[in-house]
Amino acid sequence: EQEVAEYRKSLAIRVSGFDVPRPVKTFEDCGFAPELMRAIAKQGYEKPTTIQCQALPIVLSGRDVIGIAKTGSGKTASFVLPMIVHIMDQPELQKEEGPIGVICAPTRELAQQIFLEAKKFAKAYGIRASAVYGGMSKLDQFKELKAGCEIVVATPGRLIDMLKMKALTMTRATYLVLDEADRMFDLGFEPQIRSIVGQIRPDRQTLLFSATMPRKVEKLAREILSDPVRVTVGEVGT
Ligand code: ADP
Ligand code: MG
Repeated sequence: EQEVAEYRKSLAIRVSGFDVPRPVKTFEDCGFAPELMRAIAKQGYEKPTTIQCQALPIVLSGRDVIGIAKTGSGKTASFVLPMIVHIMDQPELQKEEGPIGVICAPTRELAQQIFLEAKKFAKAYGIRASAVYGGMSKLDQFKELKAGCEIVVATPGRLIDMLKMKALTMTRATYLVLDEADRMFDLGFEPQIRSIVGQIRPDRQTLLFSATMPRKVEKLAREILSDPVRVTVGEVGT
């Protein structure tokens, strides 16, 4: 335990919550399957970034996580890699419809970036990902969602539109990510986020990532995450 505490300290990782899994040093330590290890190597990722070292084992253990680290620190793979594992762990994948992993991001550009990162790892398993955001034809997105997917990456407003159009159902959704939560609040998406969260079964795994943690985001996190582990890397303001 002492050694773990010192290792965290050396990486400027702070954690809070009950029974926090210890940080990993390598992707091998995460127990990823060979296909996923190959996809990681193909990306040129040699070892986990600091946030990944601590967030990956916690997310893989099924816990809810609040991850706070600055932009460019590798937060995306912290939730995308465990999402692939989570999806492959679902029994009878084909029986139901609708996404298993739902990722909300504040802007079209961010949704596209996450979508591209997710696709790189999903491909190895034949997992289908869709991106849904404003500025693209609703009819095209409707058709794409109707064709089926395991992952949806979306801006909140457009996801609500798609849910209203019944382009997808959330019955299978068990892995929810709110990325750049602070920016989603700044852009006024709190009502949409609350609506989306309300449509996803409460026994889901929920992850919230943010570069900063303003009080309003803190309040939402307390309401929608269960027994979360908070991981902070470096100095982060509110
Ligand atoms: P954040 O979401 O924290 O702003 P990103 O997830 O967008 O950061 O990652 C920033 C950059 O780092 C991306 O170009 C990504 O491909 C790269 N990256 C992520 N993880 C690793 C890793 N383990 N090794 C090398 N590069 C990585
Ligand atoms: Mg990011």
